[in-house]
Amino acid sequence: MSTKKAALYTLGCKLNFAETSTIGKQFLNHGFEIVDFQTRADIYVINTCTVTENADRECRQIVRRALRNNPEAFIAVTGCYAQLRPDEIAVIDGVDVVLGSAEKFNLFSHISSFEKKELACVFVSDTSTADDFGIASSSDGDNRTRAYLKIQDGCDYQCSYCTIPRARGVSRSLDANEIIRQFEELVLSGYKEIVLTGVNVGDYGKALNTDLYQLLLLLVNIKGDFRIRISSIEPNLLTDDILALTADNEKMCRHFHIPLQNGSPKILRLMQRRYNVEFYKKLIEKTVSRIDNVGIGADVIVGFPGEEENDFMDTYNFLKALPVSYLHVFTYSERPDTKAISMPGSVEHVERKKRNNMLRILSEKKKMAFYNSMLGKDAQVLFERENHNGLMKGFTSNYIRVETQYDEAVINQLENITLTEINGENCKGIIKK
Ligand code: SF4
Repeated sequence: MSTKKAALYTLGCKLNFAETSTIGKQFLNHGFEIVDFQTRADIYVINTCTVTENADRECRQIVRRALRNNPEAFIAVTGCYAQLRPDEIAVIDGVDVVLGSAEKFNLFSHISSFEKKELACVFVSDTSTADDFGIASSSDGDNRTRAYLKIQDGCDYQCSYCTIPRARGVSRSLDANEIIRQFEELVLSGYKEIVLTGVNVGDYGKALNTDLYQLLLLLVNIKGDFRIRISSIEPNLLTDDILALTADNEKMCRHFHIPLQNGSPKILRLMQRRYNVEFYKKLIEKTVSRIDNVGIGADVIVGFPGEEENDFMDTYNFLKALPVSYLHVFTYSERPDTKAISMPGSVEHVERKKRNNMLRILSEKKKMAFYNSMLGKDAQVLFERENHNGLMKGFTSNYIRVETQYDEAVINQLENITLTEINGENCKGIIKK
């Protein structure tokens, strides 16, 4: 009998990628072969996202793509969108099972045979009291360079535009001993960068009577050649202790991704974020003054209801003046069952697009200014395996993309380099011998 094949597809965040990877391991443990989503498989698993605009349309397209590869394939859909809108997914032609957030890792206990069904089975439970924790870690392909380790899930905040707390439930954290065990395993298998992921990573440890700083203290003391990156941290949770540890400890990447979401005091209030613009500004200035050459990224949402031209310009000017090194720009899109959807002052879609473009251009300028400020300086780069026309790439601790001559000897090594010039999207660097 030939080995059954499974193919997996992920939409959304790094946490989803880490979780898809765990689902993949379950298939391997059950004797399946994992194949590319573009090829013929017996089972296709789609891990959805609710932040994705047009989640419904996108999900349909991916299901169709899978069925084009094999019309007889069994189709399972899971993830945040499956948790929130199981009925919308269940009626998509060809879907056989819909699994909610709590059921994500239990496909094999819910399904005994992967026979195609007339009607989709739906297994979705309420997440409001969820206390389970699906353990997950993943890597960027087979590079064994960077791994993503899930330390936290869920969120207790109530940002008015966000459906994630409803899809993923309350904030909960993985026990520190289990994190250390997984972390050591990743280091032993050769990973040199471990990215700590979660829905609200900075909230780590709340119910366990500990916090992210205490966890980081344990992790930096693990033996081995590696560095730690925090995928993203809410401004109100980035403490002085974490800044001090980052400034003093080489194992901590000198890089923070700190969501701002909006630079207008009015809009920030409507978003129900837990800080104001003055707090954010002081935090960024403090971070820059305490950590040499720190790289700072910020998320920002444009087109939130009630965002008038002058509010948007507040955001634009606020970010322009701040020493952040790049932006991730999102266009607001209406989500069912959020407070924001019933707020007045909907912004025209063309206007949303225009504002998004303006901030993307600003982001490019900021990135180039940051790269320029690093020229002539030394940095540590973790080079990846790929060879593009004789060149290889990697990231510095402060998140600059560096390109240099391909050299097999430096793959997956933390190398000291001098940054010499900017070449398009990357910096060029010379490895210090
Ligand atoms: S912090 Fe706000 S935006 Fe982020 S997951 Fe929690 S509720 Fe959503």
